Amino acid sequence: MEKFDFEEERLRQEIGKFEARRVLIQLPEGLKLHGPRLARVVEETGAIPIVSADPCYGACDLATAEAESLGVDLIVHYGHAKLSEYECVPTVYVEARATVEVSDAVEMALPLLKEWHKVGLATTVQHIQTLDSIKEILIHAGKTVITGDAGHSSYLGQVIGCDYTNVKSITGDVEAFLFVGGGRFHALGIALSTLKPTIVADPYENRAFSVDDEAKIILKKRWASICEAKEAERLAILIGLKSGQQRLRDALELKGKLDKLGRRATLLAITEITPMALMQFPEIDAFINTACPRVSLDDTKNFPKPVITLNEARVMLDEITWEELCRRGWFES
Ligand code: SF4
Repeated sequence: MEKFDFEEERLRQEIGKFEARRVLIQLPEGLKLHGPRLARVVEETGAIPIVSADPCYGACDLATAEAESLGVDLIVHYGHAKLSEYECVPTVYVEARATVEVSDAVEMALPLLKEWHKVGLATTVQHIQTLDSIKEILIHAGKTVITGDAGHSSYLGQVIGCDYTNVKSITGDVEAFLFVGGGRFHALGIALSTLKPTIVADPYENRAFSVDDEAKIILKKRWASICEAKEAERLAILIGLKSGQQRLRDALELKGKLDKLGRRATLLAITEITPMALMQFPEIDAFINTACPRVSLDDTKNFPKPVITLNEARVMLDEITWEELCRRGWFES
């Protein structure tokens, strides 16, 4: 059985509704293998399908430029909820809700949550439909469960890779968080944004675990990177070229501040921030990343030089303290 709902019937209907003749299918890593099958579904409607083979990690990364250059009249974006401000080609979002059973993993998380009574609950868009049943399990185990206000996300309790307003809004009301979903990525985001114990119930691997030790290691590395960037002789400011990641104004403002301080900084425009791409600039001692902040936090060990986020640059410039950064969080500005 498929682990995700690709909503093929809705796909056909949306193509009809938009009278689309050429459709660009965009899938995140991990779901790309379904591209050829979905292309066949599109083909059956009479439209021409093109599958984007480029990396895609969020709805911030809509393939609008590709769609325009390919003369596409509809993008079908899989795996993420809508972030409306980034659209400029008609786009249909198929959230690819998970069909896996979550209750076993949640039951496994209960012993790890035993110290705490008030638990904040969060998940990704793939599991939003399971929140009520997860709450029931937790309440049955004697927990008080709180789910954050939707904030910038589309749904109550939803977190995305760089937006944790949902969980931050309830940090003061809970003792720990339970994240239900695959892997450590979002759970680490919760732990770093709230500094609260965070337990993962992973229904794909059917296991539960804490990310607290890993979050502490990341925090130490972040501080080390900020200190290194502070000492750096030559800086570069990375301007993301992905449609929803471009923060040109922030980058220019930062460049102006560094110029005033007599610090040399080069503006670099970049689509994929990879170690290989940054290694092409050996004279740069540290990079300030104004695009996806998760690249800085999650790939630290892969980069040969510090790659700090915009909020971390504020610490580097003594505009805010480390404590203020920890309170404010790494993601939201
Ligand atoms: S900026 Fe990064 S973390 Fe945020 S939605 Fe885009 S890919 Fe995900």
